[in-house]
Amino acid sequence: MQDFVHDVPAARVVFARGALAQVPAEVERLAAERVVLISGGYEKVYADGIADRLGPAVVDRLEQVVMHVPADVAAEAVTRARGADADLLLSVGGGSATGLAKAIALETDLPILSVATTYAGSEMTPIWGLTDGAHKTTGRDRRVLPRTVIYDPELTLSLPADLSAASGMNALAHLVEGLYAPNASPITLLQAEEGVRALADALPRVVDDPADLHARGDALYGAWLAGSVLGVATMGLHHKICHVLGGAFDLPHAPMHSAVLSSVTAFNLAAAPDAAVRLRRALGATDPARGVWELARQIGAPTSLSEVGFREELVDPAAAQIVSERPVNPRAVDEPAVRGILYRALAGDAPRT
Ligand code: NAD
Repeated sequence: MQDFVHDVPAARVVFARGALAQVPAEVERLAAERVVLISGGYEKVYADGIADRLGPAVVDRLEQVVMHVPADVAAEAVTRARGADADLLLSVGGGSATGLAKAIALETDLPILSVATTYAGSEMTPIWGLTDGAHKTTGRDRRVLPRTVIYDPELTLSLPADLSAASGMNALAHLVEGLYAPNASPITLLQAEEGVRALADALPRVVDDPADLHARGDALYGAWLAGSVLGVATMGLHHKICHVLGGAFDLPHAPMHSAVLSSVTAFNLAAAPDAAVRLRRALGATDPARGVWELARQIGAPTSLSEVGFREELVDPAAAQIVSERPVNPRAVDEPAVRGILYRALAGDAPRT
């Protein structure tokens, strides 16, 4: 047994079919009376239902939700939350809605109740992100960790198959990098391996039949584990690549994760034999990096960066920026290595371990 520190910030998690109906009770549990409701895109239909149930306790609604949280959108949201004299931020949605709530909490110390509708996992983490122009800044701060998280598999029934597949690969990326994180603990390793197993089992069923509530529940369970791991384990080169590509080149978050993951996995597992054993077991694949690639192919998630808008002429500047941001990684990283990974991810060929 390795030495370890297991330092897990606490969040109350309510996981149930129909858990959306429990939002008012959870608001009351937090003794909140002035709620700012945050939701954009499709999730607004769920937020409308919550607003009806909460009535006058909803003092404002923020619906300008933008991926990667642009700084001006965050600043406007902070002003609105302060102006409403809010005592709770209630976000309904994926990582973008949760991200906006976190940006407000960072400035105001307001608690967050998060209703998750994708598999991104942000609701379980103390990680915030803000984008200013082409530069994305992230940090960890316990004030942004939601106090309560609600997982209701029924809310994910509306997530289309392609978004479900890409979002599931985003969750898988948290788990894979959790397996070789320098601060992994026995608990995070169990969570990461079980999360990979759950997602590898559930995602093909979700994509086959997006209305399969059992498959949805199993996928959301995997996503919860992935968020839990992301919340405590230091992520490596894969997340650094996606952080840079998302901020500087505005690539879509979850599809980009899907396109990059197998190439980084192949690169890193050479230096992470224990992670390779766990990943092989969880995926049931002889070559785990290839297993990641095959899962993405099976569920129709992107396997190539060219599919998500990345271009060959961006490889050199991206590699330079990624290396300059000094990723924490099990295998040493330099520009030629990152260029190799990006070229392989661009082509989308099966990885070579
Ligand atoms: P998202 O929240 O932007 O949602 C993607 C799309 O799916 C949107 O159009 C949204 O309206 C729609 N959608 C969401 N839930 C739906 C549902 N149930 N039914 C139908 N449509 C639905 O995407 P995401 O991938 O969840 O989040 C991406 C963002 O989250 C990025 O900015 C990323 O950096 C951030 N993120 C942060 C963390 C963290 O720990 N801080 C972790 C993961 C992701």
